[in-house]
Amino acid sequence: MIELEGVRKEFDGRSVLAGVTGRVERGEIFAVIGPSGAGKSTLLRLIDLLDTPTGGTIRIEGTDIHGEQARSLTIRRMMGMVFQKPAVFNTTVAENVAVGLRFRGAREATIREKVEEALEMVGLAGYGERRARTLSGGEMQRVALARAMVIEPAILLMDEPTANLDPVSVATIEDLVIRINRDLGTTIIFSTHDMYQGQRLAHRIGVLMNGLFAQVGTPREVFTLPGSRDVARFVGTEN
Ligand code: ATP
Ligand code: MG
Repeated sequence: MIELEGVRKEFDGRSVLAGVTGRVERGEIFAVIGPSGAGKSTLLRLIDLLDTPTGGTIRIEGTDIHGEQARSLTIRRMMGMVFQKPAVFNTTVAENVAVGLRFRGAREATIREKVEEALEMVGLAGYGERRARTLSGGEMQRVALARAMVIEPAILLMDEPTANLDPVSVATIEDLVIRINRDLGTTIIFSTHDMYQGQRLAHRIGVLMNGLFAQVGTPREVFTLPGSRDVARFVGTEN
């Protein structure tokens, strides 16, 4: 379980997150939705330990992940992250997926087997020896997803995973998100500015606005009972 308590983030004295509070249950798909600049990427980066909060706490299974007691390596190993822009290294697809396993010192045979499994899962079986940079955007994003999943993370963080992808690739990634959660029980937090994607995928949605969760609820709640005028305007149900 992931608990956010009064999470604040300032950049050069400018507040971006002003006290975000909420929790994501184990096995849940949770969407962080909000307009551009709301702080979605910032929030995911704090959870992924890529940045530190100005204040407040983030706990995973009870441990303050930015606290002195936390062993950041152990915590980071629980998490896989997929970024907004498909990011691949200039090497083969298989090597791109293998990175996390190499870092852990896995045996060559294990690496081969797990990489193959991960590529199969994302529908890229047989792509292992291709140069990653020659793939389409949608394929690259699936390589990134395979790279995140190959380490069998308990938590998968995805920052606008389908931004800039064509509709077919969007649908493919969305299917994968649902399958990963259903088959592996992975807790998934993803951000999107597309509220309909939130509706399609998430068990619950947190609407990030003005540095806070303006509302947290099921897609149905957020769409039919927006908690404020700002939320209503964002989800487009204001009349
Ligand atoms: P988008 O939907 O466009 O991806 P977002 O909700 O992910 O937006 P963030 O990228 O988290 O928004 O940015 C939130 C605010 O914080 C923006 O105003 C951005 O300029 C600012 N910001 C983010 N990172 C930094 C940084 N490293 N230094 C200074 N300002 C930053
Ligand atoms: Mg962003």
